Amino acid sequence: MKPSVYDLNLEDWQEWVKENGESSFRAGQIFDWLYVKRVADFEQMTNLPKVLRDRLKEQFEFVTLTEVAKYESQDGTVKFLFELSDKNAIETVIMKHNYGNSICVTTQVGCRVGCTFCASTLGGLKRDLTPGEIVAQVVKAQKLLDDKNERVSSIVIMGIGEPFENYDATMKFLRIMIHPKGLNIGQRHITVSTSGIVPSIYRFADENLQVNLAISIHAPNDELRSKLMPVNRRFPFADLVEACKYYIAKTGRRITFEYALMGGVNDQQEHAEELARVLKEMPLSHVNLIPVNFVVERNFTRTPREDIFAFQRVLEKSKINATIRREQGSDIAAACGQLRAKHMERKQ
Ligand code: SAH
Ligand code: SF4
Repeated sequence: MKPSVYDLNLEDWQEWVKENGESSFRAGQIFDWLYVKRVADFEQMTNLPKVLRDRLKEQFEFVTLTEVAKYESQDGTVKFLFELSDKNAIETVIMKHNYGNSICVTTQVGCRVGCTFCASTLGGLKRDLTPGEIVAQVVKAQKLLDDKNERVSSIVIMGIGEPFENYDATMKFLRIMIHPKGLNIGQRHITVSTSGIVPSIYRFADENLQVNLAISIHAPNDELRSKLMPVNRRFPFADLVEACKYYIAKTGRRITFEYALMGGVNDQQEHAEELARVLKEMPLSHVNLIPVNFVVERNFTRTPREDIFAFQRVLEKSKINATIRREQGSDIAAACGQLRAKHMERKQ
């Protein structure tokens, strides 16, 4: 398979044009066609000499994301099921907020982490996405928004897959997204979410990026977390907490902790108190309480609203900032991996 045009950052293009005996300003032109003018065909890159266009065509391809399904929620959330060239399916979501559009991207076909509440991991991991396949999701979303004169204003890496198990591709993706000569998405408007791959958290802390980090914590101690998230046996709670502290000390940035409330499992007062004790050691922590999305195969029930508020109050009493995630697209199975899971069932 040829590499895709979206695998390369501007600096990589500069190398490529140099190797191909062209002036370095050609790299900027290519980057501009891809991310500012957003063409999907080498022939449209009209200010490039024909030989260069031909060479591009020989060596690269565009990523084709074939729309196999599109679900529109009443709240404006649009979820796409895209097929890749090898027929694997991924999900990309566009969420409309009052401040702009946020895109949720997929980083892997499936996931091997095995969290018990998650639909993305039901069929295991098929393969990693290439950087270009992650980039293409945002370019595609931006092209759709172009018709309405709107912009992708933020990105969450919270689709299918564990980004920190596809680390290099995710970092390449981030660097392409934030490039000032490309889509130029503000670093502070990007969030990467991980289930707690400890070595990658250390690496990420040292990247010198201002991208937000979210940790899917979901439980306040080893015993419960290991039940819900097998990754906790690989990287125990105390090691995760250490890595988070390192990240905060190194970057001076806060971490958002995601906590999906599952009825009778992790949503009691004592869980909130224990979580508060853990997070008090981490300055600026923010907790995002998520009412668990129902996944047929998983069968967790939801925490009643008043109990969610009670959980939030316990955290706030300990001066830990906690918000309840506004649900988007629950009428279209927007929880990551659900559409793909259904699609795979139909194909079998
Ligand atoms: N693999 C990464 C990022 C993708 S999942 C991670 O786990 O962080 C994005 C978020 O959705 C995570 O916080 C994950 O725990 C959460 N999630 C998965 N299944 C869910 C469900 N059924 N209900 C609510 N949140 C869920
Ligand atoms: Fe993978 Fe994240 Fe789902 Fe866990 S929650 S199985 S890490 S996608």
